[in-house]
Amino acid sequence: MAETITTNSGEEKKVLNFVEQIVADDLKEGKNGGRLNTRFPPEPNGYLHIGHAKAICMDFGVAERMGGPCNLRFDDTNPAKEDTEYEQAIKRDIHWLGYDWGDRLYYASDYFPRLYEFAIDLIKRGLAYVDDQTSEQIAEQKGTPTQPGVESPFRNRSVEENLDLFERMNKGEFDEGARVLRAKIDMASSNMHFRDPIMYRIIKKPHWRTGNKWNVYPMYDFAHGQSDYFEGVTHSICTLEFVPHRPLYDYFVRLLAGDKAAEYCPRQIEFNRLNLTYTVMSKRKLLQLVKEHLVDGWDDPRMPTICGLRRRGFTPQSIKNFLNDIGYTKYEALNDISLLEHSIREDLNKNANRVCAVLNPVKVVLTNYPDDREELIDMDNNPEQPDAGVHKMPFCREIYIERDDFMENPPKKFFRLTPGKEVRLKGAYIIMCTGCIKDDEGNVTEIQCTVDFDTLSGTAGSDRKVKGTLHWVSARHCKEATVRLYDRLFAVENPSAESERDFRELLNPDSLKVLDNVKIEPYLAEVAHVEDKFQFQRIGYFCVDPDSTPDRLVFNRTISLKDSWAKKNK
Ligand code: ATP
Ligand code: MG
Repeated sequence: MAETITTNSGEEKKVLNFVEQIVADDLKEGKNGGRLNTRFPPEPNGYLHIGHAKAICMDFGVAERMGGPCNLRFDDTNPAKEDTEYEQAIKRDIHWLGYDWGDRLYYASDYFPRLYEFAIDLIKRGLAYVDDQTSEQIAEQKGTPTQPGVESPFRNRSVEENLDLFERMNKGEFDEGARVLRAKIDMASSNMHFRDPIMYRIIKKPHWRTGNKWNVYPMYDFAHGQSDYFEGVTHSICTLEFVPHRPLYDYFVRLLAGDKAAEYCPRQIEFNRLNLTYTVMSKRKLLQLVKEHLVDGWDDPRMPTICGLRRRGFTPQSIKNFLNDIGYTKYEALNDISLLEHSIREDLNKNANRVCAVLNPVKVVLTNYPDDREELIDMDNNPEQPDAGVHKMPFCREIYIERDDFMENPPKKFFRLTPGKEVRLKGAYIIMCTGCIKDDEGNVTEIQCTVDFDTLSGTAGSDRKVKGTLHWVSARHCKEATVRLYDRLFAVENPSAESERDFRELLNPDSLKVLDNVKIEPYLAEVAHVEDKFQFQRIGYFCVDPDSTPDRLVFNRTISLKDSWAKKNK
């Protein structure tokens, strides 16, 4: 988005994206009295996902950078699907992303009386009529882009009859689906949205804000443009699928505003939606995953929802950086999820402290290290941050290392622990493996090593180099934790393109593995709070889950240190 470049003359210049360029031109021309006002218009029928974040960063971002407010408007026109649970979640997620609507919180339902009055006005002007046909019949008569539609037999009802029927629709005299109110425009229009679009339908469910006051509800297309107009929105930024709706919104606003539309009419600008590989972005499908318990709720760390990404360990900045990198265009695209993963890896590499955790532990006994001796080793918190300092990690005769860091009969080029060979314990000593103990089934239960006491890191003897460095924790001091290893939710690159198969069959069966016997260094157990992020040395980035208790921390793997899918896909 608005990055700065330095010109040849050394001047700092802002680079505008195409939306900002349009806004800048409008402001320069003095349109709308030089005012800028954007809005973000979610329907409270689901949780926000990263696609919405792309819209939010645009709507709030343009307003912030170019000087104007951004409204939050809930497009709550369908009581059958909406709820305040969603409203609350949406507000929480926008705030978490770092944006605020101030006192500019609106609801399309606040405009129901004005929209209803406007509908009555259109009936009186002969521009709207009640149609008694079913929605299937109406759809059949719509025609195709190359073939004109068929006019409804109810199209030429008298104004009186239309007024009477519409009022009775709203009084609740008719069943859902029995009648609709349609705009009388042009059944032969080349724009399908002009072929007598539906303005109102009957819904007999209580609305979460207006209760049982209404029995008819405006369609999104009859509410959206006018809501923008009522609020004084100057630039109505949305996604490309709304391009063909734009003339219809302008049509209604012009009918509503009359001559005043010449001075002020919201301007719609469209950009490409975000689509990501290995996930789905449709609210309907995400709702299905939640309802059918295929994931663990809207904030399951595998979900592309904002609260899911948050729980997974993503930061607002990493999401914004990703959105900046892919940019805003006029072309539909499918973006690689590895770009998003790269963005959080970069952020956490810079900002997450390093700690030791052993996910799949095996015990190592250091046979020449006195049983009654303990020492505290200095461990760097973050080599990327000069001021991050160190913390202490206890060392003693018994430690844990990762089971797969040891092999009794290794292949060539195995530079980790194996009998007769040396490795360095991160931050501590070089040790030499002298043997191991196995159970009846041949599983290694204990590894024996000796310590070279002259090699402590940070002392003169630390110069001696060995090929492998392992992370470890003290067996006597470590705490136990649970780790959830998350991976991509879908096994295929573009689940939405697989029209032959139900998207639920395409889920990645290995998207979650739970490890219950993880050993963590005591410092980590002491400092970790919910949502804190750490790098587990040599493993990846992990975030503290709200399921953590005082006795046991739960960590979610945000992302491994390296992109393991890049290898798989080769
Ligand atoms: P629905 O099918 O229920 O309308 P929706 O995802 O469009 O789903 P809205 O609540 O209407 O949900 O979306 C609010 C805003 O977010 C809209 O302006 C829409 O254009 C934008 N938006 C939704 N999905 C994406 C996406 N994938 N990329 C960018 N913007 C999006
Ligand atoms: Mg929508």
